[in-house]
Amino acid sequence: MAHRYHGVLPAAGCYYLAYGRDGQPPSHEGTLRVEHRAGRVLASGDLYVFDDSRLNEPISAGSVPAPGPGVPAFAVAGYAYHLRVTRLEPAASGFTLGFEAHRYIAHGARLLDDGHWSREGTITMVMQRAEAPPGHPSADRFYTGEFVAEPNGAAKTMRLQMGHVSSALRKAVIEIDRVKDTRTPLDNGAGVSWASVFRSFDWEVSVVDSDHDLTRAAPASDGIAVWTAADARAAMIARRNSHDLDREWRYYVVIAGTIQAPGKAHGHMFHSRREALFVGGHSLFPDEPQYGALRGQRLDTTREFFRTIVHEVGHAMGLGHNDTGFHFMRPTPVIAAQASAEHPFPGNVQWSFDEADLHALRHRPDILVRPGGALQGVEDVGEPAP
Ligand SMILES: [Zn+2]
Repeated sequence: MAHRYHGVLPAAGCYYLAYGRDGQPPSHEGTLRVEHRAGRVLASGDLYVFDDSRLNEPISAGSVPAPGPGVPAFAVAGYAYHLRVTRLEPAASGFTLGFEAHRYIAHGARLLDDGHWSREGTITMVMQRAEAPPGHPSADRFYTGEFVAEPNGAAKTMRLQMGHVSSALRKAVIEIDRVKDTRTPLDNGAGVSWASVFRSFDWEVSVVDSDHDLTRAAPASDGIAVWTAADARAAMIARRNSHDLDREWRYYVVIAGTIQAPGKAHGHMFHSRREALFVGGHSLFPDEPQYGALRGQRLDTTREFFRTIVHEVGHAMGLGHNDTGFHFMRPTPVIAAQASAEHPFPGNVQWSFDEADLHALRHRPDILVRPGGALQGVEDVGEPAP
């Protein structure tokens, strides 16, 4: 929900949250994301079970330091609540923050698969400026608030603190490993880079152009050079630089030569918890007129190579396909099919995410966006056949 922006409101960016009963160690921590756009303020947040191995001090006004500078990451297994912010407006000496708390319930044998949500209630409180804990990255953007909860008739004071830690909303690492005879696209050759793409939805990104010598781990006797998702998974296990997804959001990209993917796609996000994808640099555009200048071309000789990887990373961040427009999440064959004499493919490609996807990447619950989270939210991760 949006509100008009005027007066004193929290600055845009990511805030570290700590929450719990006043005077006791915090029960939860997480982040709140504040976006200022076109005269409006939008916000969302997520809470995880508090890591009391890091700190075991009672929460009182300004007592819980952030885990460090920048956007923090938390253990995925501790994911607890999505906060849907419904009210954010100036108040006498700070601002009023109102949100619905939606508890995430994982079920099934595998934690986090096919979970669902339970709305636990709406909380409204006045957040006021407070002295930040020593070393807090932004001492003048620190707020604390309290409210009285009466779950069983016994009143108790609950406290929430929030401190600005980054101008970015979220943070990720893209690690790219590839085979020898292709390339690692770091941009589209026309001003669209990983940094500019991620900046469009207010994420900070680090790209690791890592190994250039991947080889397929298949038995030598099979004589086939085609990579399958199983080969890409084996490369991920052998070559991914870090797999501690509790500490950083790392999406892993394998660039192979020729691949076998559903629907003869040029790329596929194959991982059931959205950690990894693979792309075939040697994939050929079909020899059909709608592909225009790219007809019969090898993917890694074209600008679309970068787009294909961004598209699959979009699936890894929980996005499904667009069914309108010409943005990143519209499948390439559909964009080519909709080309016209006036707007031929690939000139009709829009080098951006559409508005709904930008909003999802900023405000969708962590568990549906972060690698190692739930698959829910990705309806179709393969590209249809050209
Ligand atoms: Zn797709």
